[in-house]
Amino acid sequence: MANTQNEGKKFLDSVHQFFDHAASFSRLDPGILAQIKTCNSVYKVSFPVEIDGKIEVFEGIRVQHSHHKLPSKGGIRFSMQVDEDEVKALATLMTFKCAVVDVPFGGAKGGVKINPRTSSVKTLEKVTRRYAAELIKKNLIGPGMDVPAPDYGTGSREMAWIADTYQALKYGETNGLGCVTGKPVGQGGIRGRAEATGLGVYYGIREALADTDMLKSTGINGNTMEGKRIIVQGLGNVGYNAAHFCQQDGAIIIGIAEREGGIYNSNGIDVAEAFKHRTETGSILNFGNAKNFENSAALLEEECDILIPAALENQIHADNAGRIKAKIVAEGANGPVTRDAEKVMLQNGIIIIPDLYINAGGVTVSYFEWLKNLSNVRFGRMGKRAEEASHRRLVNAIESSSGKSLTATERSLLIQGADEISLVRSGLEDTMINAYHEIRGVMIKKNIEDMRTAAFLSAIEKIGVSYEALGIFP
Ligand code: GLU
Repeated sequence: MANTQNEGKKFLDSVHQFFDHAASFSRLDPGILAQIKTCNSVYKVSFPVEIDGKIEVFEGIRVQHSHHKLPSKGGIRFSMQVDEDEVKALATLMTFKCAVVDVPFGGAKGGVKINPRTSSVKTLEKVTRRYAAELIKKNLIGPGMDVPAPDYGTGSREMAWIADTYQALKYGETNGLGCVTGKPVGQGGIRGRAEATGLGVYYGIREALADTDMLKSTGINGNTMEGKRIIVQGLGNVGYNAAHFCQQDGAIIIGIAEREGGIYNSNGIDVAEAFKHRTETGSILNFGNAKNFENSAALLEEECDILIPAALENQIHADNAGRIKAKIVAEGANGPVTRDAEKVMLQNGIIIIPDLYINAGGVTVSYFEWLKNLSNVRFGRMGKRAEEASHRRLVNAIESSSGKSLTATERSLLIQGADEISLVRSGLEDTMINAYHEIRGVMIKKNIEDMRTAAFLSAIEKIGVSYEALGIFP
């Protein structure tokens, strides 16, 4: 866990090492590569908030790693561990993540040093609104400037406060709601954003499982999700949804690790039930017949097909990497595997599906939400009924020419037009599938053995094209 400044520095160093390694395969000018690597701007702010009659000072930060495309994009993290290097590392990852999935944004990230679990809702609201106001004052948030989203410790509630603060200060701006994504659906959000990162993780794993060439070194048999044994770290938004969608497609969730400990059952754990148990009791421990792991880190070392670290950075490091027995590691979190750990794991034949690809579903659907906010219309609103009328004519023609009638269910399935959620899901699925094959294409073309290097390289080359097109201004 990134609980010291040193952890933040380790994270940033690790991201830089990943970058440098991938950049060594690039044809780009070293100066352009240096520009692509560096963080463009860092804004640190301290602000006072009154809590129970006393003034407390909070520290916030927003890092915009890149501006080759605007707006820049990335979440806001609420945690006592927030430090400059950590946020820089996360902002850097956002740049490459957006490029991997062809989301036309630069990379950014923000954070406030606050413990969201021990702070009251009132305090969280005051701090969120004040932090947002500090950024708005400096033009550091806006639909064309920089667009935050949820991250560790924040969610749709905080995003609604940010949108509301923005609209209060920029009254009448038509595109105002596009200043932040991950909002509640009733307040300018989009259907499917909440589960998007986890669903994207599922699509990415499914694609990898179908890739028999890639899986050769692992000995995984069968090319579907059915029966795959999964351990997940973190039952937050990403971990929960990733586990849920994999389970729905036939995977067996054998372990869940959380802050307070972990649970293990080789026959499988019902993810929704485990989540309910944790909400009700305040702990994942003592769930049904599952075995308790007081030391949740040890659960990551259990035998499984797929390990999904979906909590925080630096979870798999030089000290425990050699004991990881998973065949595939899918990085639901940002930066859960350090560069040193990765070297050991690759040597052991473990496939690592890297964060900048596998958890990009969140920002992909954030992009859709932003588009919706700019156009001020729900996806599907204009075309759904026209589409249905055309399908209906086609179905009628088929029925009359074949002389056979379809059942009412068959008819409605065939006729149904695309609504917002189906468009979001199809856009997300398509994005995750295309990006997977693009990365695999780079691996083959450049003779690169690991997915992370190929994903970084593919992103670097795309960003390089933007810089070359922009030219360097005096
Ligand atoms: N915080 C998420 C991430 O790390 C989402 C970012 C966004 O939607 O802008 O990818």
